[in-house]
Formats: sequence, C-alpha cells, structure tokens
Amino acid sequence: MADRMSFWAWGLESEEPTDADRNAMANQLSERYGVEVTAKPIPDLADAELRPPRITPPDNLAEFCFTDTYERARHAGGAHFTDRTRAFNLDFPNPPDVVSHPRTEGELEAILDWCHEGGHAAVPFGAGSSVVWGVAPPDTPTSVTIAMDRFDQVLEIDETSRAARIQAGVYGPALEAQLKPSGHTLRHFPQSFRFSTLGGWIATRSGGHYATNHTHIDDFVESIRMLTPNGWWESRRLPGSGAGPSPDRMVIGSEGILGIISEAWMRIQARPTFRATAGVVFDSWYAGTDAVRQIVQAKLWPANLRILDPAEAGRAAGLEGDQALVIIAFESAELSQAAAIAAAVEIARGAGGHIDDDNIVIDDGTGSPTGHEGAVGEWRRSFIGVDPGTATSMGVLADTFETSITWDRWPDFDATVREEMGRVLAEVCSKGELSCRFTHVYPDGPAPYYTWSGMGRQGSEISMWQEVKDAANEVVVRAGGTSTHHHAVGRMHRPNAYDVQRPDLFADSIRAVKRTLDPNGILNPGVLIDP
Ligand SMILES: Cc1cc2nc3c(=O)[nH]c(=O)nc-3n(C[C@H](O)[C@H](O)[C@H](O)COP(=O)(O)OP(=O)(O)OC[C@H]3O[C@@H](n4cnc5c(N)ncnc54)[C@H](O)[C@@H]3O)c2cc1C
Repeated sequence: MADRMSFWAWGLESEEPTDADRNAMANQLSERYGVEVTAKPIPDLADAELRPPRITPPDNLAEFCFTDTYERARHAGGAHFTDRTRAFNLDFPNPPDVVSHPRTEGELEAILDWCHEGGHAAVPFGAGSSVVWGVAPPDTPTSVTIAMDRFDQVLEIDETSRAARIQAGVYGPALEAQLKPSGHTLRHFPQSFRFSTLGGWIATRSGGHYATNHTHIDDFVESIRMLTPNGWWESRRLPGSGAGPSPDRMVIGSEGILGIISEAWMRIQARPTFRATAGVVFDSWYAGTDAVRQIVQAKLWPANLRILDPAEAGRAAGLEGDQALVIIAFESAELSQAAAIAAAVEIARGAGGHIDDDNIVIDDGTGSPTGHEGAVGEWRRSFIGVDPGTATSMGVLADTFETSITWDRWPDFDATVREEMGRVLAEVCSKGELSCRFTHVYPDGPAPYYTWSGMGRQGSEISMWQEVKDAANEVVVRAGGTSTHHHAVGRMHRPNAYDVQRPDLFADSIRAVKRTLDPNGILNPGVLIDP
C-alpha cells in the first residue's frame, strides 16, 4: 500500500514514532519532570468505533466518495496538539459522514451541489495541517469533507510574465518539483510545507519562513478560481489593479467559508543562487530585538531576520541559554549578497551584537561558500525536523501562539504576555516554560511567535491545554496584538480573540457576502464567523 498520512501523528505512516521511541521519550520526561510517565502503545485504527455514516452519497458520486474508517478518522481533525491527542486515543466523536476526493471540476461541482441541496455541511480540506480547528467537521446533522488532494498539477507556466496556473490541492514538495525543471520556484515555504497545499495556504493567508518582504501567500496570488454553491468566482489575471476592493483579497484568508479554491495563477520566480548568512549573538534579548528593528527599517530586506530569545537559542541553536541569537540571511537569483550581509552585520554590531567574521557565510553560487554556519545551521536543522508527536498523550502540554505588534508597543507587549503566561503556566502545569522568536518582521513591528510547554496530567491534556490557551488568546488581544499572525482563525481563535479584535460591522459584511455565495450556509460553518 502507498505510504499514507498518519491518522494521528504529523507526517506519513512510515514516519510515525514507534513504541520504542515513545518509551525512550517517557523515560526522558520522567527524569525532566520528576514524575512517572508511561507511554501508551501506538493505537490500532481497527479498534476505533466511529459513529456510522448518517448519509450515503448518490451513485453518481460513489466513485470518489469514501466512508471507511481510515478516511473518516484521517479527516476528523487537523494537526493541532488537541487533534493528535484525540486521534491517538481513538476519540472521534464527530467524524465526517463522507469524505470525497473529487478529481475534476465536474466532480467538484457535483459534490458541492449535493451538499448544497441536501444541507450537508461541506468542509474543504487541503492537507489537514490546520492547527486552529479549521478542518474538523462542525456539529451539524450531517457533514462531508471535500479533500482537494487530487487537484495536484501545475497546469501552465507563463515564462514571460513569470506566473503559473496551479491546482489548489498540490502539496508543497510536488508543487516545487513541477516548477523546478523550468528553473522556477514559488518560494513559499511554511514550516508545514511538506504536508500542506496551495489551496490551504491561500485559504489561511499562510506565512512562509522568509522573514521580510515577499513571504506571505498574499504576495504571490495573481488570480483565483473558486467554486461557490452559487457558481464560479474567477478573478482576472493582473499584475496589479486599482479597480475597487480586490476580489482576491476577499478569498485569501476566507478559510473555506466562501467557496472551494480549485486553482490559482501564482507569481513565480527564478531560483536563488547567491546566498549570505550570519548569526549574531546578543547578551540582552531586547538589545537584539532593537537590532532587528534597525535592520528592517534600513530596508535591506533580508530573506531571514529572526531573533531567538535566550531560552529558544539554547534549545534550538545550541547556545548556552543566556544569550539571544539574531539570524540574518539574504538570497538572490541575480546579485551577490556580500554587501547586504555586511551592512546588516554592521547595524547588528552597532546595536551590541557579537559575531566573528568567519561566522559570516557567503555563497556566490560557485559551489564553495566561505565561512561556517555554527548556531544558524543547528537552528535550521531543528526548524526543518518537526517532531511527529512522539510525546502525544504522555501528560505533556505544548503549543505555540503567534501574533504581531507595532514597535512602539514592544517590549511592553512581551512583558505583559510573559507575565500572564507565567501566571497561568504556574497554575495549570508543573515546570511550565515559555520562549519566543520572531518569525516575521516589518518596518512597523515584529511578529513574535511564542512556544510553551509544561507537565500536566495524563488523560487531562486537552482540558488543561484549554485553560492555558484561553489565557494566551485573551492576553494577546488585550495587549494590542492580533489573535493570529499566520496560523489562521479557524474555530480556535474565535470567542475571546478574533471576535473581540475585528470590527462588528466587518463581521456583518462577511456574513452578507457568505449569504450571497453560500445561501444555505453549508461551507465550514463556525469557522471565522457564525453564519
Ligand atoms: C508543524 C506545522 C507547522 C506549521 N507552520 C506554518 C507556517 O510556517 N506558516 C503558516 O502560515 N502556517 C503554518 N502551519 C499551519 C498550516 O500548515 C497552514 O494553515 C496551512 O496553510 C494549511 O494548509 P493545508 O493545505 O494543510 O490546509 P488545511 O489544514 O487542510 O485547511 C486549512 C483551512 O483552509 C481551508 N481550505 C483548505 N483547502 C482549501 C481550498 N482548496 N479551498 C478553500 N478552502 C480550503 C480549510 O477548510 C481550512 O479552513 C503549520 C502547521 C503545522 C502542523
């Protein structure tokens, strides 16, 4: 059988942690937290008892609709800690009744028509890497998942305009593999790149791992083709347009509530060959963040400009745990980046940073870069190697949250978040820890990304996580940040976060648009707004 996605771990079935991996992890956790941690055996999906499907697709849809346990379990949730914990425990209280994998626009129309006419909730599904409960079926009498993974082709490349027509269900690696022979790249690399799709990126306004300039999927969209219950929506291919509000902006970030994106024309670019990288160490976290501000305001536009706080630099980049690390990287298909990195390093040194000259790596595409990467290389390996969830259901609570804030409110914002998170972590779990890095930086402010963990009680992970998450949602919005910078809203960031942040009239406007496109309110109800 072909290697399938794991129904509970992050990644393929062949990459799932083994019982031996989990036992070793349990021992490490027992030592670290001073409590007895045991690893339950890897679950067997054959033991899962799912509610029987409440609907049967008509004959004309049967060829691409599935109701077997694997399909329904795999599409019962996304990739968040809570999704994985439930799946590991074979806890599937609300699986989709039917999972469809349409192969053509005709089949897509047929399945959406069936949902529209029958009033079945329809959940668009890319790869299911949502970490905000964006693909879990809603609590409705019936639900159908519309998985887009068979829409997996780059259909056309316009070399002259540097754009490509790409189907929405293509996973990151397959997309890049199809662009590579012509020397192009989309150059959009979210950390979930291996297991996420173009349609998911557009629907969630995803952020790639480049820290400045063109990094959000928004920047690459030229036009979108989307099926709504009321017909097709297709924008005109244009490099820019001042013709009123943008139809594409309406779709980007719509999280599957307005329609199903079937394909998009995307701006592509030549693959970079010139690179330059440096890791600058700071004795103080806030001196480092100020260096980042100065570099981004100098408009040098590094591809990467991340700062890791001392805790994160210790854990992910091999530093001692008492210094922050600023990672600066430039790349280009056209020009040597030696001058740009020199200018950025000079600013960083002027702001109190330390770096030896031989820790500046310059690669002019000759095949023999100068310098060595040190902590930066260590950080890159840990960033790419996402753990599949070895510690799932062992009592450990762990999550991340990401936001953004203008520079005038930084570092007070950070202090407020740390104080509130310190309080809630001390209350809810033992040995709670919080760390921060910037994933993206703008001339007017950073996008801080917080990671937290602590030891809770085995079996109570989800309710304990919820207490911490409520506090995180609340403090981020109260302190002036956004409820999400790139992970999307889904259902998770709604009540005490997104619903507080967005203007009420804006929510009413989205509801009005939804009524026009989706009059029966079947598309992903409960995500972003209540219809
Ligand atoms: C380990 C990990 C790392 C991550 N790193 C990043 C990161 O660096 N940057 C980032 O932005 N996000 C990140 N995420 C979050 C997630 O990967 C993104 O939200 C991603 O864009 C979702 O893509 P997907 O194809 O998996 O969509 P899904 O998870 O399947 O769906 C996400 C949302 O989009 C809707 N949707 C999906 N496809 C379509 C379509 N064709 N038409 C209409 N609606 C659709 C769904 O209904 C849902 O609301 C990460 C997640 C994980 C687990």
